[in-house]
Amino acid sequence: MIKGLFQRINQTISQFVTGRGPIDPALYDELEETMIESDVGVETATRLVDELRQAVRKNRLSTADEVAAHLKGEIGRVLREGSGEIRWGAEAPTLVLVVGVNGTGKTTSTAKLAHYFRRQGRSVLLAAADTFRAAAIDQLQLWADRVGVDMVRHKENADPAAVVFDAVQAGKARAVQVVVADTAGRLHTKSNLMEELKKLNRVAERALGRPADEVLLVLDATIGQNAVQQAKSFTEALPVSGIILTKLDGTARGGVILTVKDELGIPIKFVGTGEKATDFDIFRPDEFAAALFGETINERTSPVVPASDPVLEEPVWFDEEPAATDEAAEPEEARREGGFRLPKWLGGR
Ligand code: GDP
Ligand code: MG
Repeated sequence: MIKGLFQRINQTISQFVTGRGPIDPALYDELEETMIESDVGVETATRLVDELRQAVRKNRLSTADEVAAHLKGEIGRVLREGSGEIRWGAEAPTLVLVVGVNGTGKTTSTAKLAHYFRRQGRSVLLAAADTFRAAAIDQLQLWADRVGVDMVRHKENADPAAVVFDAVQAGKARAVQVVVADTAGRLHTKSNLMEELKKLNRVAERALGRPADEVLLVLDATIGQNAVQQAKSFTEALPVSGIILTKLDGTARGGVILTVKDELGIPIKFVGTGEKATDFDIFRPDEFAAALFGETINERTSPVVPASDPVLEEPVWFDEEPAATDEAAEPEEARREGGFRLPKWLGGR
């Protein structure tokens, strides 16, 4: 995955920086190109390379290791700002809204967040605010049951804002620490979706007595520069406070996250590295930058998840339509069966 990008950066560096004599100036163009091919946006790649060029001159960097270490440090610096824990509300419950385009992994990430908070010993309530399809509500219910948390649900086509309102009220009444709301990613038109999310956010604020504590945008790392467009549309409509970057297990690129952070300034808070509830971790900028240069992220075990928890080992997915952004990554079986796949632990194959 990520490995791909930085192996290539390392290769480029060792090709042009021999440690004998001055650095071949072709390094900079090559590096820029390698980054752009790995979905780092042009602006960000140019900035990083310009900065490197200056540092080579100023700090007299001469070996490939020095050059790589400098670049790694710069990338870590771009990513570090604003990342880390979620923002806890002054009063319980803390409200986390999970938004994003269909198929990016919102429902799965909502469940992963619930599991993550449970592991920290916090009480969690889910809100099934994707009311667009009954299957979406059932999908989250399955996850809620597995993870062992309660969920507020209304009927299909109910007002999603009302679901969040009720969940916040229930959260207050039950003294729950965190309410996490899953939302819809596709309505009839894009503007309807944004209008609906804006309303949901307003109603959430009314129920909570303050704005939602986190509005987390789910971005699929495999879609490259499209992720930047998605982030722009969502930030125009909502006060997006962080990114959940999903499907890092499925891409050799992932460089897009540098661009999202650098150009839009939205911190990355969590990463998804698979379909299981445990394939999730907070985003660690320095480790991420290091991983870009060598190890892969999902080789590392997260301290917040148990070594094995069989009930969390299977994906829950019964979207009616294949995810628009990520067809290739969908299980063949699920596609053949019109997108319905019963999880193994419920007797599916
Ligand atoms: P939603 O439409 O945004 O709610 O997306 P879902 O949560 O239903 O996920 C869509 C598909 O992506 C499902 O098949 C999930 O199992 C899968 N998925 C979600 N997160 C990840 C991830 O981090 N890695 C991988 N490989 N698949 C994921
Ligand atoms: Mg969903």
